[in-house]
Amino acid sequence: MPDFLEVVFLGSGTSHGIPMIGCSCPVCRSEDPRDRRFRTSVAIRLLRDEDAPPSVIVIDTGPEFRLAAIEQNLERVDAVLFTHGHADHIMGLDDIRRYNAIVGDTIPCYCSQSTAESIRRCFGYAQRPFSGGDRPSITINVIDGPTRVLDIDITPVPLLHDKDEIFGFRIGDFAYCTDCSEIPPTSMDMLRDLDVLVLDALRLRPHPGHFNLSQALDAAAMLKAGRTYFTHIAHELGHKEISSKLPPRVELAYDGLKIITSVPKSHIN
Ligand SMILES: [Zn+2]
Ligand SMILES: [Zn+2]
Ligand SMILES: [Zn+2]
Repeated sequence: MPDFLEVVFLGSGTSHGIPMIGCSCPVCRSEDPRDRRFRTSVAIRLLRDEDAPPSVIVIDTGPEFRLAAIEQNLERVDAVLFTHGHADHIMGLDDIRRYNAIVGDTIPCYCSQSTAESIRRCFGYAQRPFSGGDRPSITINVIDGPTRVLDIDITPVPLLHDKDEIFGFRIGDFAYCTDCSEIPPTSMDMLRDLDVLVLDALRLRPHPGHFNLSQALDAAAMLKAGRTYFTHIAHELGHKEISSKLPPRVELAYDGLKIITSVPKSHIN
């Protein structure tokens, strides 16, 4: 079982990615590398005190999954969690085949029933045993409650994304809640006593499917995590300008950001 999680942001951008095609706004033209955002995704390295190489869980495989994996030197992937089936969260899944070859095995994926249907519709050809070939090989495991993935417990946290119920995930004292417009009260209770919270904060104006910045700040203030990072960021939010206005212990994520959090032994069976 891991002692630490190292969370690496593979992408921190909204569904368009930043820069957005054909936009010449100041953020899309910004030279600050933190304003260049691939579609939202993280990789989590499970670090152990021993010398054993870390295993890696990825949450969502967006359209730039391959580019992000190269950029962040993602050495392996052992399991994938999916928050939901929107294109900006699944469309890079075909490139998991490179990690099939690296780990020499089928890669298990975990998601809700409705997300499983979206993945089967787009990537049905990948649901097959690993045979050493060049095609992706995954299993799709439908979950609706806490599940052991590799050697750590993962708790899906139901979130509202407009009218859809999607998953956030809690792993130890780390939680990842992208694409949410509302956190139901029972899910708020699942997000207490966090060291690190990653939360959706799309833009300044309201949006039916996402927290805007002020809603994300309200939720962060209620949840009181040790550190909160906003993600799924649109081009209205320039990294430098918005960062200067955020309260202590709240930051905008950016592609390549790495966060380390220890795994409390009470969360491990
Ligand atoms: Zn999204
Ligand atoms: Zn723009
Ligand atoms: Zn979405």
